[in-house]
Amino acid sequence: METADLQTLVCCATDLLALCILKPPGEFGVDVALGSSQRFGVPLCYGGPHAAFFAVKENLVRMMPGRMVGVTRDANGKEVYRLALQTREQHIRRDKATSNICTAQALLANMAAMFGVYHGANGLKHIARRVHNATLILAEGLKRAGHKLQHDLFFDTLKIQCGCGIQEVLHRASQRQINLRIYTDGALGVSLDETITEKDLDDLLWIFGCESSAGSCTMKLNSSSELMPITWKEFANIHPFVPVDQAQGYQQLFRELEKDLCEITGYDKISFQPNSGAQGEYAGLAAIKAYLNAKGEWQRSVCLIPKSAHGTNPASAQMAGMKIQPVEVDKNGSIDAGHLKAMVDKHKENLAAIMITYPSTNGVFEEDISDVCDLIHKHGGQVYLDGANMNAQVGLCRPGDYGSDVSHLNLHKTFCIPHGGGGPGMGPIGVKKHLAPFLPSHPVIALQHDKASSPLGTISAAPWGSSAILPISWAYIKMMGGKGLKHASEIAILNANYMAKRLEKHYKILFRGAKGKYYHSEFSFVQHDTVHSATHSGYVAHEFILDTRPFKKTANIEAVDVAKRLQDYGFHAPTMSWPVAGTLMIEPTESEDKAELDRFCDAMINIRQEIADIEEGRMDSRINPLKPFVKPENKFWPTIARIDDIYGDQHLVCTCPPMEVYESPFAEQKRASS
Ligand SMILES: *Cc1c(COP(=O)(O)O)cnc(C)c1O
Repeated sequence: METADLQTLVCCATDLLALCILKPPGEFGVDVALGSSQRFGVPLCYGGPHAAFFAVKENLVRMMPGRMVGVTRDANGKEVYRLALQTREQHIRRDKATSNICTAQALLANMAAMFGVYHGANGLKHIARRVHNATLILAEGLKRAGHKLQHDLFFDTLKIQCGCGIQEVLHRASQRQINLRIYTDGALGVSLDETITEKDLDDLLWIFGCESSAGSCTMKLNSSSELMPITWKEFANIHPFVPVDQAQGYQQLFRELEKDLCEITGYDKISFQPNSGAQGEYAGLAAIKAYLNAKGEWQRSVCLIPKSAHGTNPASAQMAGMKIQPVEVDKNGSIDAGHLKAMVDKHKENLAAIMITYPSTNGVFEEDISDVCDLIHKHGGQVYLDGANMNAQVGLCRPGDYGSDVSHLNLHKTFCIPHGGGGPGMGPIGVKKHLAPFLPSHPVIALQHDKASSPLGTISAAPWGSSAILPISWAYIKMMGGKGLKHASEIAILNANYMAKRLEKHYKILFRGAKGKYYHSEFSFVQHDTVHSATHSGYVAHEFILDTRPFKKTANIEAVDVAKRLQDYGFHAPTMSWPVAGTLMIEPTESEDKAELDRFCDAMINIRQEIADIEEGRMDSRINPLKPFVKPENKFWPTIARIDDIYGDQHLVCTCPPMEVYESPFAEQKRASS
């Protein structure tokens, strides 16, 4: 290709299975290759979750969003792999963000990778050839029966101009329970995959009249009972574009989940298309922009974002074509009301929206949340409330009541979808009535029946996003019930405050609410028997920040040292250096019992004692339990020693060593023993 002269990049959408037997795009000048990895052993799942893939030439590697593997070395010089640049989506400079990827499809990527590992190179080639050969057989049979194929070259998909009546073909297809794609130009389409059998080919030929024989993340309990339905074939093996009357179970589930989420949030309509919180942010802001444009207010493009916001907020605003204006945060971690007023006044002509998180990312309930919403509305803007912290609100207060217009709900946080090491997730958005006509649509499946609607377009390829994981949230809500959900939020807040109280004598708690009150809603989903509005000061919300920064000076100890030491006590470290660099953020949720909360607090208090030993000279500041590795009883054993983070970020490309490296120790052993 000669695009190099024009300084143009060439992208290529492709299919992984086909690439097993085709020339790789990188070998004929393509710069970026992308596609879906569903083909690698993941069920159709009525549209998702599935991992996409995205591969680039070496010169573009550092511009890629998301996480990458880098090679580094541990304290013993051993070669190890780690996620490089791993905190980019949270630490990126607010106004410089170009990617909003946070929760993605990590678990699905692992599934696809396992598919590759399991089958190996020859196995994959075999599968790809088998699929292609079956397609060749079908194509030959179709041609012999007098049908015309649109393309001479194909891998697994045929577009067919029928030589006979299309209605008759479709009738026969329904008799054999096969859905064919109907193109708008009247052609029919069929795609084969590795599940194809001889009987399927026979059925297809009969149908055509041929002779036969031719994602601080809320992480909580994910109960087995919620997860089981994912494995049922009725949820797993259904294509997202089947006629809606063949997916009535899914449709009922969407309707019921929408009704419950509306009741929980105070919104009027839900779109299930976004696959993550960040995608929800983008969809919500795009809906706001579409709404403002429809009112003729094209000039409104300023988005106010407090400095405490999650990194995806500014990145999504940027992608939605808005101009970001940061708002200061006060010493309690809340929005600086004075600065907000000044910013609103300065930008009132062009104000599109504010993005605000409640309770805030600093772990406090903004005391004047409804006043903030009023202020924005008074000046013609819309309120995007980041719903990632719904775990502190469900059953207690509703964004729709205190003045928000749109929110995403991280179903993989509050509503029990497991994190899967970073995905799959679901970030449906709830909106007030006036924004409903601007929610995402779909080109194949009609989602909106209202004639007056003018949707913003399509957010994901599947009409209801990662449909197959929605039964998890549905089951959680149904099994908890209104009272249970409210109780969970109360326990989550109680647990955080209990831990903050136990730890406050040993560590500084960074932010607390000045008055300790939260917005109180009255609504029917939850039976209110008590009135909750604690008016004492000094409470946190459902999470809190421990300040470990002072120990750098006094003991040469940083947050990362505390985090690693926690492994010796059998704990995975909590969120580190976010939202404030050099601190630890702790969110217990309602899932852990008191004994476990105490075990964690005891560990943290012990670690504080160890830090004191260094501060007071009883332990060396370079060689102590927080630096190298020691061995108490009953501990979790990492397979490597302390790793070099900086070296890892500088050696991005995974120079996967050749197989011989793995082989040689055994080969040597063999030689030695023979
Ligand atoms: C997790 C989170 C997000 C991003 O959601 P993803 O599902 O990871 O994309 C946005 N805002 C806040 C406050 C979050 O905690």
